[in-house]
Order: sequence, then structure tokens, then C-alpha cells
Amino acid sequence: MNIDKVFIVGAGLMGSGIAQVCAQSGIEVVLNDVKPESVNEGLKNIEWSVGKFIEKGKLSETKETILARIKKATDLSQAGDADLSIEAVFENLDLKQEIFRKLDEACKPDAVLASNTSAIPITELAAVTERPDKVLGLHFFNPVPMMQAVEVIKGVSTSEETMLAGLDFIRRLRKEPIRVESDVPGFLLNRINLISYVEAIRLFEQGIASVEDIDKGFRLAFGRKMGPFETGDMVGLDISYGGLRAIYEESKDIRYYPPQLLRRKVKAGELGRKTGRGWYEYNDTGTQKRD
Ligand code: NAD
Repeated sequence: MNIDKVFIVGAGLMGSGIAQVCAQSGIEVVLNDVKPESVNEGLKNIEWSVGKFIEKGKLSETKETILARIKKATDLSQAGDADLSIEAVFENLDLKQEIFRKLDEACKPDAVLASNTSAIPITELAAVTERPDKVLGLHFFNPVPMMQAVEVIKGVSTSEETMLAGLDFIRRLRKEPIRVESDVPGFLLNRINLISYVEAIRLFEQGIASVEDIDKGFRLAFGRKMGPFETGDMVGLDISYGGLRAIYEESKDIRYYPPQLLRRKVKAGELGRKTGRGWYEYNDTGTQKRD
């Protein structure tokens, strides 16, 4: 099936990023959020980011042409003519299920419904709809306009046709799909990555090495752009904590039990770049403060 119109629920960090890459690829987007100010904030961020891509010569169209493809919506009932709806609201099962119920009612029968969830099983979202075969995970990575990989995740009932539509859609965004055959807790890449994040935090907690040295080691020994703590601050400590808890709850695998220091930092509101302090401190522009 062709996906030419996309409806996005949640205009935060991820939803606005997904709207941007759709618009940059010539796809019509409708952006919805329960808070109208989030949509406006999202659009401001998109405008800034598209401007940067144009400055660097990475986009051939004008900013106006790209931005004109994004419309605002105040209500989910406006999802009626979308070929694909992507949900990117807070990581909360009840909230996401409520959105899926409403999207199922509002969307045309052959429309595909996707979630950008980091850890909630796709099967549990599909189960509240009348079209579980047309529900899949499209897990983008942060920052969406920069990160090339997107996990395309199969729930228990997802049909092969829906998977193929998802894989095609991601290629159309000029991104690389990573096919994930089952919605195991944490899916694929986070599941692997979180293990090394937990181990890095535990080694730091034990005084074996500093945050700075662990990150430096990852950059210089493994050729990564960022170490586990730098990545953790970018993603948000609360997001990783939520992901670990969700994987642990479902799998009871002790390797995913969130370390005490991570729990404390989340409780203290030290969530990373977005709050100005996490494993590092940041100034107003979000860049790391260094001595
Ligand atoms: P965010 O807090 O930046 O944005 C969430 C948005 O959802 C907010 O603007 C909020 O107002 C809106 N919202 C809440 N309830 C709503 C409703 N009923 N209807 C419409 N909008 C509603 O969160 P985010 O970081 O963009 O994360 C969104 C999803 O993407 C989560 O499931 C998260 O786990 C997942 N995710 C996040 C990252 C990341 O690095 N932040 C990476 C991959 C996946």
C-alpha cells in the first residue's frame, strides 16, 4: 500500500522529529497533541532543524515548501484520511491504548497504525483495536532527523503486508529499516545497548572508573560517537529508566534491573540535557559544561 498521508499523535521530541522527516520526504503530515502549545513548539523546532539541513546543502527544497506539508490537528477524529497514524505520546500503556482505540475508530479501514514506543509490547496496543493485523512498531531513534536506523517491529498479529508497508515507508524516508520479528521487551537495539549502559553505571558506582573515562574509552576504543553516559544524557535518564523497568518487569531478567544511582538521579530530576543536569552538566544551549 502507498503511504502518502501520515497522522502523528504527540508533538514532543519524537513526534515532531518524525513529522519533519516525513515532510522532508514529500509526505503530507498532520501533527496532533493534547497541548496546542506542544504542536507550536514542535513546529518551531522543525523550522530550525530544516533550516540547518538547508544551510548544510542537504535538502534541495525550500523551507516553506517543506513546512507547508505539515498541518496541525486538535482532535484525533481528523485522522480519517491518513494512510498511516504514528503514536508518539508519553510512555504509558493506558494512555497509548486509549489513543489506539480512538485511532481505530477514526481511521479508514485499511490504514496502518504504528507506535513509536520504546518498550511497550506492540501486541498490547494492537489488542485494543479491530485491526491487530495492521498494527506495528516503528521505533525511531533520537534525534530523529539525524539517526538513520528505524526498527520495524512485528506484534503477534501483525501481517506480512503491514510489515512490508512499514519497511517501504521507512525506506521512503531515506532511512534504514531494521526488521524485528517479535516485540520482545525492549525490542532489539535498546535491549542490547541498555545492558552496557547498566554495566557502565555499576562500574562507575563501584568507583572503578569515572564517567568521563568510560565515555572517552567508548569513543576511542570502539569508534562510537558518544559513550554510554553521553548517550544516556541525550536520551533522558527517565526514558532509559522506564525502558529498563519495562524490560525487567516483563522478563524478570536481573541484568535489566535499574541501578540505584540511576533511580536516585531520576527521582532528583537529573534527567540529562533536557533538565541541564544528568551525568554531566549543560548550559542553556544544551552543550556540555567543561572545566
Ligand atoms: P515527549 O514528552 O517529548 O512528547 C510526548 C508528547 O505527547 C507531549 O507533547 C504530550 O503533550 C503529548 N501527549 C500526551 N498525551 C497526549 C494525548 N492524549 N494526545 C496527544 N498528545 C499527547 O516524549 P518523547 O521523548 O517524544 O517520547 C514519545 C514516545 O517515543 C515515547 O513512547 C518514548 O518512549 C518513545 N521514544 C522516545 C525516545 C527518546 O529518546 N526520547 C526514543 C525512541 C522512542
